[in-house]
Parts: sequence; C-alpha cells; structure tokens
Amino acid sequence: AELATMMDVGVNDVISTCMSLGLFVSINQRLDAETMSVVADEFGFKVEFVSADIIEAIEEEDTEPDEVHPRAPIVTVMGHVDHGKTSLLDYIRSANVIAGEAGGITQHIGAYNVTLESGRRITFLDTPGHEAFTAMRARGAQVTDIAIIIVAADDDIMPQTKEAINHAQAAGVPIVFAINKIDKPGANPERIKEGLAQLNFLVEEWGGKYQSQDISAKQGINIEELLEKVLLEAEMLELKANKEKRATGAIIESSLDKGRGYVATLLVQNGTLRQGDIVLAGQYHGHVKAMFNERNQRIQEAGPSEPVIILGLDGAPQAGDKFNVMENEREARQIANKREQLAREQGLRTQKHITLDEIGRRIAIGNFQELNLIVKGDVDGSIEALSDSLIKLSTEEIQVNVIHKAVGAISESDVMLATASDAIIVGFQVRPSVQARRVAEKEEVDIRLYSIIYDAIEEIKSAMEGMLSPEI
Ligand code: GDP
Repeated sequence: AELATMMDVGVNDVISTCMSLGLFVSINQRLDAETMSVVADEFGFKVEFVSADIIEAIEEEDTEPDEVHPRAPIVTVMGHVDHGKTSLLDYIRSANVIAGEAGGITQHIGAYNVTLESGRRITFLDTPGHEAFTAMRARGAQVTDIAIIIVAADDDIMPQTKEAINHAQAAGVPIVFAINKIDKPGANPERIKEGLAQLNFLVEEWGGKYQSQDISAKQGINIEELLEKVLLEAEMLELKANKEKRATGAIIESSLDKGRGYVATLLVQNGTLRQGDIVLAGQYHGHVKAMFNERNQRIQEAGPSEPVIILGLDGAPQAGDKFNVMENEREARQIANKREQLAREQGLRTQKHITLDEIGRRIAIGNFQELNLIVKGDVDGSIEALSDSLIKLSTEEIQVNVIHKAVGAISESDVMLATASDAIIVGFQVRPSVQARRVAEKEEVDIRLYSIIYDAIEEIKSAMEGMLSPEI
C-alpha cells in the first residue's frame, strides 16, 4: 500500500504485479528491497534506498577555532597471536609508568586512559587485535588514532602481523612497531626489522619513517620509550577536540547487568559528556543516570578521549555504534525508533541464505543461476539416486549442483558448508543433530527433510519452476 501511494498507482496494480512475480502478497505486507525495485521498475520508477546512517539528523555545532583543545591519542594494539598484545596492555594498565594511581585500573571496560610521568595522557582500547578494530570500523566508528603493531622478536613476521598492518593501513592509521620479547634468549629484533623492510616498512634506525621500539612487555623493558614514540606520532597528528560541545563518540562495549540494567562503555571523541545528558546510541537512548571511569570511580563528566561507563540506556548498542548527546528526549526517542525500524526492515530484506521458498522469486527477478545442494541420507544407494535425479533437474537457466553428499545425520559441518556456499541441505531419511539445527537457525540455512525420494524431487522441481507457494 505504501509503495502504491508513493508511485500514485492502485494498490491492486501493485499486488497483481507481485503476483506476476510469483509473490502472493497482502496489502500490508512488507516487500524486500529487490522486489520493491522490480515492482517499481514495472511502473517506470527507480528505487533509491536510504540507509539507517542517513537518519543521523544531528547537526554539528559550529566550532570556534579558539575553543579547540589538544586531546589524548587513542591507541589500539594489534599483531599476531601470542606476540604479546595482552601482556603489553596489562603491563601498561598496572605498571608504574603510570603517574599517581599506579595499578589502580582494576576493571576491564574496553578502554582505559593512563597519565604518564610527563603528565601527558594516552587512551588504550583494551580489546586487542585487528578483528575487533575492523569490526568497529565496519559499524562506522573510527576510534583509533595510532596502531601499535607488536611483533615477537623470537618469532617472525607472521600472516596475522601482515593482516594487522593491512588493516591499520586500510584505516589510514599511523603505525608504531613494538618489537617484543627482547628478554628471550633467542630474540633477534634486527631480523624483524629486516622482515619489515622487505615489506616496505623501513624503521627509523634503518633510515625509514616508521618508529619502532624494542621492548619486553613481560619484563616491562622500554615501555616508557615506546609510549614516548606513540606520543611523538600523536603530536604530528595534532589531535584536537572541543570540550565545550555536547559529546559525540563511539560505543566500545555494552551489556545487560542484572542489578544495574544496561551498562555501556563509551569513548568520548569530542565534547563533554555529563551526568543527566540524553544519549542517543545506535537504536537506543536514555538519560545518563551514573558514570564511572576505569578505576570504578563515580564521575560527573568525561571529556575528549576519555572512556566512561554509563548507566541509563534502554538497550545494549553494538560496539562501534556512534553516540550523540541530544537536546531533547523526544527527538532522541524518535531517531532511535526510526533506526530500529530501519534495521528491522533491512533484516527482513536481506535473507542470509537461499531457501527453497526464495528460489521462485529470485528466478523471476533474474538473479539466480545456480542451486547448490548438500545431500545427506541413510544409505548410499538412495543418496546416489536422489543426487542424480536432482542434478537432472538442471535447466538452461539454473544449474543444480550437489556440492557434498554423504551417509549420516546432518551435522554442524554440513551447515557450515551450506553457509559458506549458500546451499540448501536435503536430508533423506535422516535428521539434523541438535547442534546442527541450532546453527542452521542462526545462519538461516534451509534444511529440507524427506522420506520419499519422489517428494524431494517434486518439491525442488516446483521451487525451481517458481510454483512453490510460500510457507506462511
Ligand atoms: P597475545 O596473544 O598477543 O595477546 O599474547 P600474550 O600477551 O597473551 O602473550 C603470549 C605469551 O607470550 C604469554 O605466555 C606471555 O607471557 C608471553 N610474553 C609476552 N610478552 C613477553 C615478553 O616480553 N617476554 C617474554 N619472555 N614472554 C612474553
């Protein structure tokens, strides 16, 4: 009905167009993105989809240049597994490189801020690794200013080292190398530097532009020197923020706590967050009821580059969601609701994997050429017979492939294969294991069970002819 109104055509015309595509829809039914495009096309319209990001609707206040202050760099530690990421973060968190409250950081809240003897500050993201880094980036948050890439001197430059370097580079984040485990007898930092040179990363002492520091995260050797180099790098970035503005930033992590409700760690990137502020974060909002720092001290406000735990949101936003402080609650709620609605619709639109019911529609809009099947059964003979018949269903338009066939129950690994290859699982006289069923539900993999070969063939044939009526 909405689509008909937008195009100024009759609802019945839209419904009959859907029917011609093999879709039996009701007046209030939501269509997915592809169907909408095809239907609109029939009426001579082009559809443009507006993503949830566009519902930002949040205007940046003008920033007077003289209101801008330097802020602490935000640092992520990345590198190959076991090269010492956690050890480095733990050492910095607890060690006496930190002025004042040494060892005072008892909680893991996803980020922490340290003040060095020199009085300068650095914020560390406490979820090491490029996977977390890139997952946040994928959600739109660019929270890292500098990456420390850690390489163990008793090992080599490993695949994940290269991956970490690539992820940092893809994000345009400057790199400082930490060559770790120099206390170990077999350590050879020069070999690592040579390896880096071969990758075109020439470190400073070799005449290049990349800073690097030999360290031992475990023994705490040269950590201050490393942090000084990080600060030097930060100086070149001239990181600035305006404390006077309403806060904006990113969600680092969030959870539901039995006693306290939704608890979220936020990293303030600009402005100042205060108790009582109305925060809009992803699809959720709420008044900041209480704020805590990484030392579990209650605080009233948090400025740029400061991580903070807040209580008071009405849900758990995802890591990497951006947050804003809003002027009024009504507006915050409206935008949160709109985002939720869009996310839900997008969820409906994007069927993760092919299902038998989907096939007819996908064929109608012309983007389906191959049907991948996994065939499991109780005896070899029937699996062969069924597979042969299914492959013979191939037409000029659609090739049927049996990518895997075997005797036995449908297992988790069958489901994973289906996920990776966008396949439908056909079970003949067998059932999925509990675990397989659970994963299939999560991954939205279609499992079809039959006890008569003829039924299996007929159903898949009908689906391919677009004749399978959708399950309601
Ligand atoms: P991650 O997987 O990168 O987080 O690595 P970890 O920090 O967990 O370190 C892996 C192992 O290396 C642990 O057993 C650490 O104790 C050890 N390790 C880390 N840094 C050093 C170091 O500087 N010297 C020595 N000898 N061992 C280290």
